[in-house]
Amino acid sequence: MLDTKNMYKELGISEKVYLYGQEIESSLKERFAEIDKVAEYNQLKVIHAMQESRVSEGCFHYASGYGYSDQGRDTLEEVYAKTFHTESALVRPQITCGTHALALALSANLRPGDELLSPVGKPYDTLEEVIGIRKSKGSLAEYGITYRQVELLEDGTFDYENIKKAINEKTKLVTIQRSKGYQTRPSFSVTQIGELIAFVKSIKPDVICMVDNCYGEFVETIEPSDVGADMVVGSLIKNPGGGLAPIGGYIAGKEECIENCAYRLTSPGLGKEVGASLGVMQSFFQGFFLAPTVVAGALKGAIFAANVYEKLGFPVIPNGTESRHDIIQAVTLGTPEGVIAFCKGIQAAAPVDSYVSPEPWAMPGYDSDVIMAAGAFVQGSSIELSADGPIKPPYAVYFQGGLTWEHAKLGILMSLEQLVQKGIVTLP
Ligand SMILES: *Cc1c(COP(=O)(O)O)cnc(C)c1O
Repeated sequence: MLDTKNMYKELGISEKVYLYGQEIESSLKERFAEIDKVAEYNQLKVIHAMQESRVSEGCFHYASGYGYSDQGRDTLEEVYAKTFHTESALVRPQITCGTHALALALSANLRPGDELLSPVGKPYDTLEEVIGIRKSKGSLAEYGITYRQVELLEDGTFDYENIKKAINEKTKLVTIQRSKGYQTRPSFSVTQIGELIAFVKSIKPDVICMVDNCYGEFVETIEPSDVGADMVVGSLIKNPGGGLAPIGGYIAGKEECIENCAYRLTSPGLGKEVGASLGVMQSFFQGFFLAPTVVAGALKGAIFAANVYEKLGFPVIPNGTESRHDIIQAVTLGTPEGVIAFCKGIQAAAPVDSYVSPEPWAMPGYDSDVIMAAGAFVQGSSIELSADGPIKPPYAVYFQGGLTWEHAKLGILMSLEQLVQKGIVTLP
């Protein structure tokens, strides 16, 4: 007989926490089966794109210098374009992170005098400095690009009336963030995003619709680019990197938009032709290949966490039963101590750096102290099991990732163990 319970005990999980987790897990069989079906579809989609793009061993070779005719890079961009059903894609290790990819997509496609509109409320924290909502060097505002924002309605849906009013002759680009990020609003389904894009285009057909796709890739069988987005943008140390990409970002979309991005990333006149891949291609391809399964594991973890904490009386977004549009799980613990204990538990479950204890700190780009738990193979990778909590009301943690479901489960049980030990939670 497998002595799994004892193994958990060795890792620091008490019997009570383990049994509580088992009970929750056994109630989730059907949900998990649905997730596996989506992963199956997306796995086939990626393999199909790889076969059609004739991925070969040569794609994994090291390219240096200018990177002219870098076969791996060019083929990978074709694989992304085929998977996202777009005309083109830019997928590069020179795009340093998600914020960089988004800043690139915006600055490449906006010109002085243009206006940017977010019809879904406040964007992700780091974009406030990119746009210039918070004053910063090099922001779009410094280049004479104005910004408008329309809040979501009380119930988290789009305020079509005010969106219509906000679109004007200057509006050039509309940015739609799929995932909630560090907010407690709902994340949007791809279908909802499609409706919003159709509405925006019915008012101004030539406006560029960009979707911040961070944390959303492969959660559904369609992507925002399947429902009218002109650009989808994300980070390779989140979903599409599959945990293997050590760096990078992507932008997939209309040829013209991607061309603008390439000229902005490298240089006018050079565009996509330069940018050597420096040996990272195998990890980019293999990570993208694994991404649908990795995302499935992360989703199971998120749903497990929602059910574990919801049944203990903590507000969770999304709730335990609703459908998922990204891999993030928000759990409102209500106190700084709760946030810190939760994150310490996630850290203690990690394969790397499990012995360190995370503390809140003033992270660049964020407007409050943030505590981050991650024992990752790739620094800051949030497709790996991780939790972040801004130390400000409502004291919510944002939990995401897990390269395997089994690890995600351990992390959540460990977080619960910490909360029980601190006396913040009493199990039924
Ligand atoms: C993570 C994230 C970003 C920024 O990505 P970084 O890689 O952290 O710079 C932007 N938008 C959303 C919704 C994100 O989740």
